[in-house]
Amino acid sequence: MSNIESLFPDESMTIMIVDDTTENINVLRLTLANFGCKIAVALNGKMALDLIPKLKPDLILLDVMMPGINGFDVCRTLKKDPDLKDIPVIFITANGDSNHVVEGFEAGAVDFIVKPFRTEEVCARVKTHLSLSAALRKLIQSNETDPLTGLFNRRAFMKKAETEVARFKRSHKPFTLLFGDIDFFKNINDTYGHSAGDDILVAISKILNTEKREIDQVSRWGGEEFLVLLPETSSKGGLEHGNKIRELIAATTITHEGQEIKVTMSFGLSEFDGELTLDKTIDLADQRLYKAKNSGRNKVVSEGV
Ligand code: GH3
Ligand code: MG
Ligand code: MG
Repeated sequence: MSNIESLFPDESMTIMIVDDTTENINVLRLTLANFGCKIAVALNGKMALDLIPKLKPDLILLDVMMPGINGFDVCRTLKKDPDLKDIPVIFITANGDSNHVVEGFEAGAVDFIVKPFRTEEVCARVKTHLSLSAALRKLIQSNETDPLTGLFNRRAFMKKAETEVARFKRSHKPFTLLFGDIDFFKNINDTYGHSAGDDILVAISKILNTEKREIDQVSRWGGEEFLVLLPETSSKGGLEHGNKIRELIAATTITHEGQEIKVTMSFGLSEFDGELTLDKTIDLADQRLYKAKNSGRNKVVSEGV
């Protein structure tokens, strides 16, 4: 984190300007022109709330006084949405009255710029908040990711799974968990070495992460264990998906330092249908995985125990 400046500027970043006056937009556009970021514009509060979830800007410069939904209300709405609440909002206002400023901070702003502003001030504040949010995002990402495979770690997976449980409470659509464990992985390490084992973990992760729908969540649960969450999927669909992956893995040859290695994987599957808790549903998938191991490996078990 020592070199925070290196995270900025970044051409992939987007700053959104929300203002109902074209002249203000043009001035801000010119002010930020040297940053190298993309600039998005919304001309009122409604347009901002429509565009922000699609564009996911890295920072929002938000005018307070606008016809229809004002800036404070736009900000309050964003802060209620878990996907958007971390986007930093800087208010731009002609009213520097302290009550007004306090209301803005209470609505969730990270900063305030009072018009008429100096270009240098806008640039300095924007730069500070873009750097901070980029650093925060990086920190969150490294906290949620398994370094070897790039998959979600267990903590991140549990957060996603709990969101799915909350969704189930509203929609009653079941989801399925697929608990996978590589067969005889200790033998692989013993025979080919630990770095071959690591290559296999990476190759399996790629298969799990590629052969999936966009909404499916794949995690490295630990060691050579992976947990996959299949939203809006019953155990029947989960069994089909599990067998497809299992066959693909068994048919794959992984090359490490000229040696061709083949592995298989066993899976236990359980459906979350609101009767068991999330933890118990994971336990059930784990027990079925154990059953798959004890009944020959390279199979998916979706029933019993
Ligand atoms: P089973 O078919 O019953 O699952 O047998 P197994 O050998 O796969 O299971 P076991 O639990 O006995 O061994 C798991 C091995 O996974 C032991 C451990 O050293 C290895 N392992 C765990 N994490 C890593 C890792 O990050 N890299 C490598 N190379 N090996 C790992
Ligand atoms: Mg194993
Ligand atoms: Mg294991």
